[in-house]
Amino acid sequence: MEHTKSEKTIELVDRARKLIEKVSETLTEIESLQNDQPTPGADVKRLFHFFAARWSGRYANAYVFSSGKDAGGFKRLLKTMPRPEIERRISNYLDTEEPFLVRHRHPLSLFFSNVNAYGDTPWGGTVARPMGCEHEPPCTTDAEHTARKLQDVRGGRS
Ligand SMILES: [Zn+2]
Repeated sequence: MEHTKSEKTIELVDRARKLIEKVSETLTEIESLQNDQPTPGADVKRLFHFFAARWSGRYANAYVFSSGKDAGGFKRLLKTMPRPEIERRISNYLDTEEPFLVRHRHPLSLFFSNVNAYGDTPWGGTVARPMGCEHEPPCTTDAEHTARKLQDVRGGRS
């Protein structure tokens, strides 16, 4: 498929953004280590345990994670809200009796893609937009933002 110049530009910006994010994550981890605070890695681990425990409580089985993707999802969320808020939303999610979710046994991926649906009280923060996003409603992930940008360009609405 022939890529237009603006499509290529969007892809390169996305790649650069991901590199910046990696650097930023590493700096945060160094800071946490210096201040004897839990590193983002430790918070991710706690969220894995929390989800697994709550899920097993519901389905009496062990949840199988797709670790790279799931860790990335938790890391992204931790940038926008504190861990207890994520845990509260996980609980709300797993308590939902929506037939579709029950049929699919509440997969973590659907929690990530609908995380805004499970926060019923404000925690005083705002959901961070991906860098440079001016979409309404705001994109929740960099991947979504990149996909929408590409769509805008292809539809000639850039
Ligand atoms: Zn966007």
